[in-house]
Amino acid sequence: MSENLSFVSPTPNSPWGTYLQQVDRVIPYLGDLARWSETLKRPKRALIVDVPIEMDDGTVAHFEGYRVQHNMSRGPGKGGVRFHPDVTLEEVMALSAWMTVKTAAVNLPYGGAKGGIRVDPKKLSLQELEKVTRRYTSEIGIIIGPHTDIPAPDVNTNAQIMAWMMDTYSMNVGGTATGVVTGKPLHLGGSLGRVKATGRGVFVTGREGARRIGLDLRGARIAVQGFGNVGSVAAELFAEAGAKIVAVQDHTGTIVNENGLDLSKLIPIARTVAGAVSFKGGDVIPNDKFWDVPCDILIPAALEGQITAERAKKTTAKLVLEGANGPTVPEADDILAERGVLVVPDVICNAGGVTVSYFEWVQDFSSFFWDEDEINVRLDRIMMNALNHIWDTADKHKITLRTATYAVACERILMARQERGLYP
Ligand code: GLU
Repeated sequence: MSENLSFVSPTPNSPWGTYLQQVDRVIPYLGDLARWSETLKRPKRALIVDVPIEMDDGTVAHFEGYRVQHNMSRGPGKGGVRFHPDVTLEEVMALSAWMTVKTAAVNLPYGGAKGGIRVDPKKLSLQELEKVTRRYTSEIGIIIGPHTDIPAPDVNTNAQIMAWMMDTYSMNVGGTATGVVTGKPLHLGGSLGRVKATGRGVFVTGREGARRIGLDLRGARIAVQGFGNVGSVAAELFAEAGAKIVAVQDHTGTIVNENGLDLSKLIPIARTVAGAVSFKGGDVIPNDKFWDVPCDILIPAALEGQITAERAKKTTAKLVLEGANGPTVPEADDILAERGVLVVPDVICNAGGVTVSYFEWVQDFSSFFWDEDEINVRLDRIMMNALNHIWDTADKHKITLRTATYAVACERILMARQERGLYP
């Protein structure tokens, strides 16, 4: 078969293409393990499913769903499920691969996986949303499980959706399998601290990044793109540390205030359907102008491919904290590095979510639940240890934090691959 017919060939400017370039950049630092590097460029398994549901008006609608298990050398697959109208197999492949790197970077005993449905959940009733979730879960039920692949929330999915997934899987296996998904409601085997964990990790790694470049958080100006679970929590924690949130962009538009947006009022409004632009304590500007707002820290916490070369050239930020997965394209990465802008890459910056997912999974298996302080202390420790190790690697090889994170993670993944050996 011709190579460009393979499902692993990237389309131009795609997240999967970005990921493949990121892997190419780390190969020179892998030594003899580079022999195994092709394994990083090929998802282990990809499942495409049809998700038919009966809509409230009596019509039958079909949605396309995916679950990709990128790599399971170090443990069961782990990664969220995304509901979004732009979801494609190739996007889910990239997201699953970033989970492989992320779980290895923080040394969690997991591989990487991801799922998604091409659907706009904002156009579904609650009942339709439940049907889509349950049918999708049942369809991917042949490859997920508490010891094989554990889904979690991602863009547009939440604790309620995880409860439906857990229930559907449990009904199909004839028991209650709380460990099959993480990010569940608290009284269904969820963990304290999970909702805020990703934003908290962005703050912890960002605070350390700021310290290392001598940027005082007090008075620092921050622009946040994406104001969901990740962006809004990170913004709150930075504001508590004395920073000013000068710009916020969500799916409704962009709002700015050079004196700092009042988050105690903005966050409840941004959670409603009216979104951030209905907040009166700032000025609404066109979305494209978000990238021109003077700031010290930029937090992309929405979707992939947002920091393009052009945007990288003009940002005034000294520090970029990747709350989203894959927000920076490789060309922009190079421009930021040349301009001396420090990027804390997604695969460590937003790893707080999957780290507390791991705590949740461990708590479910032991049926013993920790208090929130214990969760947060352990989260901070894991994130800081991982980041410090990555920083040492970056200093040693004089490489960016992204390539250093890949070096640390890929060594772990490929070492496991080599030790396990090829079957048969
Ligand atoms: N969706 C989150 C991520 O991209 C969390 C995944 C998880 O908790 O498994 O890291």
